[in-house]
Amino acid sequence: MGKTMKTILVCGGAGFIGSNLCSYLLNKGEKVICVDNFSTGNMDNIKDFDSPLFNIIKHDITEPLEVDESIDEIYNLASIASPPHYLKMPIDTLKTNVIGALNLLELACEKDAKILQSSTSEVYGDPLEHPQKESYRGNVNPIGVRACYDEGKRAAETLFFDFNRTYSTKIKVVRIFNTYGPNMDSYDGRVVSNFIIQSLNGEDITVYGDGSQTRSFCYIDDMIEGLYRMMNSREDFLGPVNLGNPEEFTILDLAQKVIQKTNSESEIVFCPLPSDDPTKRKPDISLARKELDWEPKIKLDEGLDKTIEYYSNLLK
Ligand code: NAD
Ligand code: UDP
Repeated sequence: MGKTMKTILVCGGAGFIGSNLCSYLLNKGEKVICVDNFSTGNMDNIKDFDSPLFNIIKHDITEPLEVDESIDEIYNLASIASPPHYLKMPIDTLKTNVIGALNLLELACEKDAKILQSSTSEVYGDPLEHPQKESYRGNVNPIGVRACYDEGKRAAETLFFDFNRTYSTKIKVVRIFNTYGPNMDSYDGRVVSNFIIQSLNGEDITVYGDGSQTRSFCYIDDMIEGLYRMMNSREDFLGPVNLGNPEEFTILDLAQKVIQKTNSESEIVFCPLPSDDPTKRKPDISLARKELDWEPKIKLDEGLDKTIEYYSNLLK
């Protein structure tokens, strides 16, 4: 017997991770409904899906969402995710993360659907434990400029677990660490896209601070596989589970790598460090390895090559 097709809602489906997820799920033969308000997402990311199984609903998740058909699964990826964008729109960001999550949890209850929340390594703030395990409770400044995002995501995790305890809602929570690759908007403002675009254009590479802060970068294909495995994990595994690549680099390492790979004449310039910028970040992924049999396969060198090729084609 063939498997039954699922109907899956991907909220934030026009964004970087969301559009890659829509494509992956369509390739698996599922019916996909993309919900997006196109604030940071882009129609270009999803316009080429030539499939009768793909639909788009333009909607802001801070408003309740009505869908006529039955829904099996909801991925919540809707949120402004890039620091320069959420610093400009802090109240919208907080509303999306909290009220948006509440609206989607209510929809999940109504439809008896399973719902996955894309939380973030930012719930650990500027971590005092390194690498970060899921049991670490974090070091977040609740009144800082990044709090709209960090505290919004923390409150969303609370809502997810309270819905599970109160209504037995089928929840899954993943904490995503820095992810990069094709479909991230060229003007998104995050470090990998910034450095590649600057290098390709021969512009200065803007390192914030002295570049000694670290991040661990996960290529998008690995992340999508992790999200899918989590959604399809055993029923009583709710998370939170870290998803990310544990290979850690300084931001200066990244700048030098990108310059070398693009044969660029760009020079590194040092700019002020944004406030509350975490000094280090690296996931402990033992739980994902054990529960999801998942670990990233694509090294930074390979992922950067693919991403550089994507932006080069875009600039042409
Ligand atoms: P993105 O900005 O490319 O995608 C987010 C999408 O959500 C966009 O299409 C945007 O238009 C949409 N959106 C925003 N607010 C909305 C609202 N109120 N209603 C409907 N749609 C809305 O960012 P991304 O990198 O693809 O991030 C996707 C998710 O993954 C986010 O929830 C983010 O917090 C999380 N995440 C991403 C990373 C990363 O490194 N990329 C790391 C940690 C967590
Ligand atoms: N960063 C940088 N130059 C840029 C953009 C970002 O040096 O042009 C730094 C930023 O200060 C941070 C790191 O790179 O320390 C990762 O930034 P990003 O916005 O990609 O993600 P996040 O801070 O959310 O991890």
